[in-house]
Amino acid sequence: MLFRSLVAAAALLVALPAAAQESGAAIQTAAAAFVKPTNAERMAVIVDQLTAAGLPHQLQTFEGGNPRTGPMAGSNVVVTLGDGPKDIVLTAHYDAVKLRDGSMSQGIVDNAGSVLAMIEAMKTLKGQTTGHRLIFVLTDQEELGLIGAKAWLESHDKSRIHAVINADVAAYGRTVMYGENNGAQSGFVLTALRSQCAEQAVNCIAFPVYPPSDDRVFSAAGVPVVSLGTQDAIGAHQMWLAFNGGEDNGLKEGFVPPVFQRIHSTEDKLSYLNGEDVARFGRFIADLTLRLDRTAP
Ligand SMILES: [Zn+2]
Repeated sequence: MLFRSLVAAAALLVALPAAAQESGAAIQTAAAAFVKPTNAERMAVIVDQLTAAGLPHQLQTFEGGNPRTGPMAGSNVVVTLGDGPKDIVLTAHYDAVKLRDGSMSQGIVDNAGSVLAMIEAMKTLKGQTTGHRLIFVLTDQEELGLIGAKAWLESHDKSRIHAVINADVAAYGRTVMYGENNGAQSGFVLTALRSQCAEQAVNCIAFPVYPPSDDRVFSAAGVPVVSLGTQDAIGAHQMWLAFNGGEDNGLKEGFVPPVFQRIHSTEDKLSYLNGEDVARFGRFIADLTLRLDRTAP
């Protein structure tokens, strides 16, 4: 009996990393589908992947565009899980940036990786009982000025929002970066995040100054929000120095952290994505969601 349960326990220990590897490989394959010539086609890829995962979704179409592009319709993809008097909102933009030569970036690091992590979080959270309604908003036109996030928030009762988790630039690395520059109302979100980093022994780096993403739409409206990204440990440290190190940051004159050389260029490629890292980040987001679900109100 003892021997049997030992064998069972050993099988479990082996099974967990195997499952992680499996979802890592699946994410690697799923990411390849995001390489498309238009954002409308990227949206169709998400719709297909959500359908395949049994995740019901809605499209929110809006009139977007900016002075540079002219009027341009956009579409957010929205997945709602569970119910409750208040909402936890999870955002990641799926649109890729148009390059100077008119072609589209592959948009893998920025930001298919985060979208895939969010889909992984949805799979984890689906069917779990939460005290909050969970709303995933995969936004369009972030690159044109956070337009999809603005359109979504305008159509939503912001007093219902308990907290928002945004993810941008997350395709590899196990260091979680987060911004502290989203207002005092976001303090409890940061407290929950820091506790989770400590308890799970995840290397997390706080950025007093963190680059803007869809999170700014929510903080501008006074909504509690945190923006997350991932990097390898060295890349995260270099990013921290570039944004927060001041004049004496120690970086060479003209040094640009590798991730900023990649995004918004032809270098933002599928080959940078690490499926296992993305799967891990997706579970991290799901855990943070559950942790925020337990914080009142
Ligand atoms: Zn981005």
